[in-house]
Amino acid sequence: MSANENTVESFRETFRRDQVWPFLTPAQTKVNVDNQMILYVEDLNLSFDGFKALNNLNLYVNDGELRCLIGANGAGKTTLMDVITGKTQCDSGTVFFGQTHNLLNKDEAAIAQLGIGRKFQKPTVFEEQSVFDNLELSLKTDKGVLPTLFSRLTPTQIDRIDEVLKIVGLAKHRFMLAGALSHGQKQWLEIGMLLAADPRLLLIDEPVAGMTPQETEKTAELLTSLAGERTVIVVEHDMEFVRSIARTVTVLHQGSVLAEGTMDQIQSNRDVIEVYLGESEIAEGEEV
Ligand code: ATP
Repeated sequence: MSANENTVESFRETFRRDQVWPFLTPAQTKVNVDNQMILYVEDLNLSFDGFKALNNLNLYVNDGELRCLIGANGAGKTTLMDVITGKTQCDSGTVFFGQTHNLLNKDEAAIAQLGIGRKFQKPTVFEEQSVFDNLELSLKTDKGVLPTLFSRLTPTQIDRIDEVLKIVGLAKHRFMLAGALSHGQKQWLEIGMLLAADPRLLLIDEPVAGMTPQETEKTAELLTSLAGERTVIVVEHDMEFVRSIARTVTVLHQGSVLAEGTMDQIQSNRDVIEVYLGESEIAEGEEV
């Protein structure tokens, strides 16, 4: 074999067509969860014109947990998510992702890059694009010059999209325009778009608002299946849904944690009962 053939052969072995080129693959962020915890929120405070939206809030979430966050309107749930994801700056406190990543000194893009994905209540899919294209746009790829030059999907990336389509139950709708999906399917597509970027922690705001009972049930199955490999925090008002998915529920009230425990513990907690319902218990299906 000539020197030239040797070089070509060695190039082929290094850069196989069926693999993502190493320099195009974003380095996976290491998240230290040696203490089993992935999110540490401590003494978090944030005031808007003197009004305490977050008030010495402490929250710890285990790696792989599916945690539900509930609380009446204005309790501070969205503000907490905003601080975790870098959308809003707090006045004081600490927020760590694993033991080493201080989220308070990072911006939204850096936090997303670390592996924290957020889904807002309203689905924001690209309606004029197909389901597949929506997922392609969300792949965790480096958007720099080199990757843009080699922008065709690799087989690994296509496999990843297929995998996500299966997870969110949209494999049969891959070529459909996202705008033609039902409300529930759009929500699943958006969850899929988050998954395509391979996040470690998912923050999901009111996923079942506006869904049919069947869609709600499928969403419960989907979110339950995601936990374990990933950590999922769900903000939700629908108590029946929360009961169907939650192991641990955190109740926020006036910017602080009022109670934490299983749904049964929460429903019989005197503070929770007093704050929300006077003397009656939280009824299933009721919105808090
Ligand atoms: P909901 O269930 O209605 O979404 P929430 O628990 O998410 O409620 P937040 O949206 O976090 O509550 O709001 C907490 C409090 O902070 C509310 O009283 C809200 O009016 C106030 N607040 C939030 N953002 C701002 C802001 N940018 N400026 C002033 N006040 C704000």
